[in-house]
Amino acid sequence: MTHYEPVIGLEIHAEMLTDSKMFCGCHVVDSVNAPPNSAVCPVCLGMPGMLPVINRRAVEFAMRVALALHCTIQPHNVFARKNYFYPDLPKGYQVSQYELPLATNGWLDITLAAGETRRIGIRRVHMEEDTGKLTHLDNGDGSLVDYNRSGVPLLEIVSEPDLRSAEEANVYASKIRQLLRYLGVNSGDMEKGVIRFEANVSVRPAGTNQLNTRTEIKNLNSFRALTGGIDYEVARQAALLAAGGTIQQATLGWNETRRETVTQRIKEEADDYRYFPEPDLPPLHIDPAWTAEVAAALPELPDAKIARYSSGFGLSAYDATLLAEDRPVAEWYDAAVAAGGDAKQVANWVLNNLFSLLNEQKLSLEQIPLTPAGLVSLLALVNNNTINNNTAKEVLADMVRSGRSAEAIVQARGLAQISDEAALAQLVRQVIRDNPTQLASYLAGKEQLQGWFVGQIMKATRGKANPALVNELLSQQLAARKSAPE
Ligand code: ADP
Ligand code: MG
Ligand code: ZN
Repeated sequence: MTHYEPVIGLEIHAEMLTDSKMFCGCHVVDSVNAPPNSAVCPVCLGMPGMLPVINRRAVEFAMRVALALHCTIQPHNVFARKNYFYPDLPKGYQVSQYELPLATNGWLDITLAAGETRRIGIRRVHMEEDTGKLTHLDNGDGSLVDYNRSGVPLLEIVSEPDLRSAEEANVYASKIRQLLRYLGVNSGDMEKGVIRFEANVSVRPAGTNQLNTRTEIKNLNSFRALTGGIDYEVARQAALLAAGGTIQQATLGWNETRRETVTQRIKEEADDYRYFPEPDLPPLHIDPAWTAEVAAALPELPDAKIARYSSGFGLSAYDATLLAEDRPVAEWYDAAVAAGGDAKQVANWVLNNLFSLLNEQKLSLEQIPLTPAGLVSLLALVNNNTINNNTAKEVLADMVRSGRSAEAIVQARGLAQISDEAALAQLVRQVIRDNPTQLASYLAGKEQLQGWFVGQIMKATRGKANPALVNELLSQQLAARKSAPE
């Protein structure tokens, strides 16, 4: 039986978090919480005779993404009208970019679960405007339309057909989402529909490299829908070809409830849209100096951070990836290292102790009073033996809660470690004397009881004894008992 290989190209639409819309001064508002039709004007409502103006900030945001994806920014841009009728599109056309997009020819490296890295080509990145939003009433009484979203700046990122499985598509799409968040271009709020996927899918006998007829699955609005839609479509096409059938080029929809694709339109060509240059907008010239400025202002991106954390700081790939996942976390970590923290020690404390405190309290780093420098001064108290690790965890929890400094907490709660050798030696002697049965077993060869003795001493000092010193003193005194029993 022929084994079929999936061939997938993704189109990702992302709303851009600018203050105002793509071609008018209306605010970009929250698509779920803002009252419907509260951020609209004659331009985004498509009134005749209204003139659009290009939002410079939206162009800059699009450039950031295109540059992060290693694309070439085209100096000569033209907006085009993509004509079609739909109730959420009051003008009867969407202003987009067609023949002359903002950027072309980039790539993004993705790392698969097995650790393998693959380079996915980016065909183009262009700007357009979003449509309004339709809500179909459950009772069949009609549909409601909200034009708040009409004219919101939208970015479209089109990949080459380089993806070979739903899993790869998922990794690629997740990485694009992460990048958009890093660049401050999009919130990544999938539930609010600010990122949407369309998957172009075909199959071919494994080992061949032709591009066969594809179908395009629209309205994939979650990662689950993306992988579900692709898997379903790959299986459908492979079964159809295996049975001697042919694939018809079509636009499909994804039914999330039934988890299957449904045909919406058979074949859809560019001619159907009658694209032509938007006569109300001048060509957009992008000065290479502006491109250079935007490129220079890009933040350090996740891959670069991961590389720096692993080869520079010696963190494991796993830890480096966790720290670089979200920009605020990575920047918090960077600030702690910049404040003099040991990179490995800070990483351990953030990933193991701080993250679990945040998870317990369902808080994010930005919501707590603990500063990166605050964590570093706590670790300094551990490193100079003022407090031991366990006490430090308690102090950390207090710092997260109260915002007080580590020093103040240790002082106020009397948590400083007992490192007074004479006092500890006295205590060790006392504990040995008070527990003759355990001592006898120890002397009879049950050496693991040393740990039990340490525990008793820690208990007596409410955890404040310097554990290294306790162990040393205990070893000395037990050894003495062995050679010269009292
Ligand atoms: P359009 O949707 O305007 O026709 P393109 O032809 O540029 O756009 O392709 C759109 C997407 O389809 C791209 O992501 C591209 O990689 C993908 N694609 C093109 N041909 C195939 C194919 N044979 N199989 C799977 N994906 C494909
Ligand atoms: Mg398409
Ligand atoms: Zn408007």
